[in-house]
Amino acid sequence: VSRRPVLILFDLDGCLVDSTEAITSCLNHALGELGLAPRPIDELRRFVGPPLVEAFETLLVEAGAPEDWAATGVAAYRARYADVSLERTRVVDGVPAALDALGAFASLRVVTSKPRAFALPIVAHLGLADRFDDVHGPQITLHTEAKAHTLARALAAAAVPASAAVMVGDRRHDVEAGRVNGTATIGVTWGAGDRDELVSAGADHLADRPADLVALLGG
Ligand SMILES: [Mg+2]
Repeated sequence: VSRRPVLILFDLDGCLVDSTEAITSCLNHALGELGLAPRPIDELRRFVGPPLVEAFETLLVEAGAPEDWAATGVAAYRARYADVSLERTRVVDGVPAALDALGAFASLRVVTSKPRAFALPIVAHLGLADRFDDVHGPQITLHTEAKAHTLARALAAAAVPASAAVMVGDRRHDVEAGRVNGTATIGVTWGAGDRDELVSAGADHLADRPADLVALLGG
């Protein structure tokens, strides 16, 4: 990773914020609306980050229910998530200080697969909005765009070449999106993805705490 990149792109869930409680409680709420049993939180952590419709497709198959209930599950989830996401999402310790240090020399943007309409109020509610030039996320549709697509839109909006940008995230989707677009990539190990997932996805570096990002990229 080059020191002092011009642009640093951050995944939201699991990277900047801990949204495990909000996301897993809404998944269980939606399963209940579908007449299905709730699942233990530990079995739901894998769904923090990837597109929601894929989570429901997997959960429905695992429950022996029709996969085409996924759209109903997504709708039930989103109706609930709009209410609980603001109270049950917290900033990861050390992130605000790291953003302050990195924002002193780089443009910072959020690149999330959460619909932008949900991501914006969370970023604002947690007091992070001033640190970012923009928040990039898909429209609210059932099948969300690939993360590589959202990242490409962020690069275009910033008018920065991929070689001067770094993608930071906690799941393989984040690393893969960075690699597809030609950015450097940093996998963070404090989120939902573990070291093996991030290394096998091809992350250039790993960070175990937010301060490591400052050490890697230059404070
Ligand atoms: Mg994530």
